[in-house]
Amino acid sequence: MQRRPGFPARIGRPQGPGAGAAVASPSVLRAAQPPTPQGVGLDSAAVRGRMVQRLAASGVTAAPVLQAMGEVERHRFVDTALVNQAYEDTSLPIGLGQTISKPSVVARMTELLLGADCARAHGLGRVLEIGTGCGYQAAVLARLAREVYTIERLRALHEKARDNLRPMRLANVHLILGDGMQGYASGAPYAGIISAAGGSSLPAQWGEQLAVGGRLVAPMAGPDGRQLLLVVDKTSQGLKQSVLEAVHFVPLKSGVA
Ligand code: SAH
Repeated sequence: MQRRPGFPARIGRPQGPGAGAAVASPSVLRAAQPPTPQGVGLDSAAVRGRMVQRLAASGVTAAPVLQAMGEVERHRFVDTALVNQAYEDTSLPIGLGQTISKPSVVARMTELLLGADCARAHGLGRVLEIGTGCGYQAAVLARLAREVYTIERLRALHEKARDNLRPMRLANVHLILGDGMQGYASGAPYAGIISAAGGSSLPAQWGEQLAVGGRLVAPMAGPDGRQLLLVVDKTSQGLKQSVLEAVHFVPLKSGVA
């Protein structure tokens, strides 16, 4: 019988400073017990290894990114019915009309973030993710950045991410319920800002909250409405923008729901 790839370490409702708060305040993840792999989790390493090989073949070259993608168990972030698709290069529904991004996009954006001037010089420092969703991208970032602030506007997904991430005991991940269009000033300045939702313009706060030498990676609607991946580097002379390939992300929306 196939079981949901859950954890025995689920410890119920949130506790801690940010629990259930409508305002933006972080809750650091702690687990009562270490996770115990079970069911599909035990067999997934080989499948994940093949996913990593495909990522490498498709042009992801940063070894730390490939390693992180190989470590994070994506099947633990998707619903039971979708577990057998967890290592395909596809986005999958996570509820409330939102999706977990496909692995190639997560790897690509993460690799771009690591290309920030300050990350190349000193390693990736504090990162802000807009759109926590189920928490998968945050788990990948947690292996590469010193601190990860991740903000989600939908309470149900914020809580789902907390449940998904708690057993992983990632003390450097801070989950925030709030409107990421405002950024998250308390963690600024950021070495990297990454958005998993696409708007029609760049919120000014994102640029303001970026450190000099930092980099923003985000989908943004182009002139014809199609989304393009945008990279913005903050230099001492200001913001320098590059437009990359077409992408397809859920819309960036304002307010908390
Ligand atoms: N990185 C996520 C992808 C989630 S999809 C993962 O790994 O699963 C993008 C998410 O952005 C959605 O959950 C959506 O609710 C959220 N979102 C959209 N606009 C937002 C905003 N202004 N602030 C915070 N989150 C937002």
